[in-house]
Amino acid sequence: MQPTAHDFKSNARAALGDKQLQDALSGLPGGLVAQRAAARARLPEFDGLRDYGRDLRNHTLEHLDVYLERYETAVKGAGGHVHWAANGDEACAAILRICQDAGARLVTKGKSMVSEEIGLNARLEGAGLEVVETDLGEYILQIRHETPSHIIAPAIHLTQGQVEADFRREHAHLPAGRRLVDPAELVDEARQILREKFIEADVGITGANFLIAETGSSIIVTNEGNGDLTQSLARVHIVITSIDKVVPTLDDASALLRLLARSATGQEITSYTTFSTGPRRDGDPDGPEAYHVVLLDNGRTELLGSEFREVLRCIRCGACMNHCPVYNAVGGHAYGWVYPGPIGAVLNPGFIGIKEAGNLPNASTFCGRCEAVCPMRIPLPKLMRHWREREFAGGDTPFTTRMALKSWAALARRPWAYHLLARLTSRAMRVASGRSGAFRWLPFATGWTGGRDFPAPQGRTFQELWAARQKQAASKRSAR
Ligand code: SF4
Repeated sequence: MQPTAHDFKSNARAALGDKQLQDALSGLPGGLVAQRAAARARLPEFDGLRDYGRDLRNHTLEHLDVYLERYETAVKGAGGHVHWAANGDEACAAILRICQDAGARLVTKGKSMVSEEIGLNARLEGAGLEVVETDLGEYILQIRHETPSHIIAPAIHLTQGQVEADFRREHAHLPAGRRLVDPAELVDEARQILREKFIEADVGITGANFLIAETGSSIIVTNEGNGDLTQSLARVHIVITSIDKVVPTLDDASALLRLLARSATGQEITSYTTFSTGPRRDGDPDGPEAYHVVLLDNGRTELLGSEFREVLRCIRCGACMNHCPVYNAVGGHAYGWVYPGPIGAVLNPGFIGIKEAGNLPNASTFCGRCEAVCPMRIPLPKLMRHWREREFAGGDTPFTTRMALKSWAALARRPWAYHLLARLTSRAMRVASGRSGAFRWLPFATGWTGGRDFPAPQGRTFQELWAARQKQAASKRSAR
């Protein structure tokens, strides 16, 4: 995927003016956010479980080499193969080789953000393979030639009417007068089309939510069951995932699954939670003849050894983006690369570089909601701040921002000057704003005044109020 993160500002402007996108996004806060809140309220130990999950992921990251080796040994013991990929190119090459060795023509795919990260579909299609996405949201995006805008609800930016129009265009062989009004009718139609593909597929590719070191199993969670059909009906099952997904034991995975479903969709558990361990064994009624796992690094080792290590705890639940006011306003595509929202603002600079993705850690109000809801307690605002520091240190922060920061630093070191300037500026602004008490245009805040008025400071400054309060408290104490 060609990144457009450097164009975040114009992407965001276009998103704000896109009526259809705004209609689609308007349902987000009331949906996933409310469902998560209800699920959390039903589980009294939810926050304790978050502490457990954080500690477990920290422990695993601390000993990642040990658990990955243990995982590889267990996969081989179960008859599978493990392929290590340092970057996207190596991962795509390994998958293509497996497909070609299997004489594959048709490949079905479950949802996988890692496959988006490495541009897998384009690579396989370029080699003449037919690739069919089987997750409903991903299928819709594939026929629209779009990328996901959310990590668990990839087509959340689309309205039902858009999907109906896409199906009528794409499935032109079906009767033109058929009903496609209810979501259930759209699902039925996609199911009819995909059923044939599941049966004919030579290779099925899935991602993995977790990898279990003790058993060599991979786990996927879905609500459609498409992942199960993808991996059990094809002759060859390939798991494409990243090195940070490994957990030590089945018990550990169970604890994380309890957090994942609740944080993502507010469910106690997803409709399908599927464990795969190696290829079909003698006596198994179904399953693939061969089982491969492609383990991607792609910059994660570097993150592991840096101040960004904590981001690798992420279990890709999507809660941070559901609660983010910026994501809710502009949607996922504005972020310009695979991972949107607060998690993308921390991950993307690590994968595509701070020069390309420097806008993303700055596209935050720092309201802290992302950290407050993250099941892995990842301090996302702190990590975004680290990226800002790196951007500043590398000289990539825009000139005006650097000057503003330098002025701020000079004032912050001289409190008397800061207090004086704050007092004079607020009074001058109050007078200049006239009777309206607001500005329709300000030279240093055109981004703000382009969409709304800028209220002039009213009354006393914070420092004045604070000093008055301290004085009041002191006189009360001396009166006692
Ligand atoms: S950062 Fe936290 S909230 Fe966001 S996707 Fe990852 S685990 Fe979920």
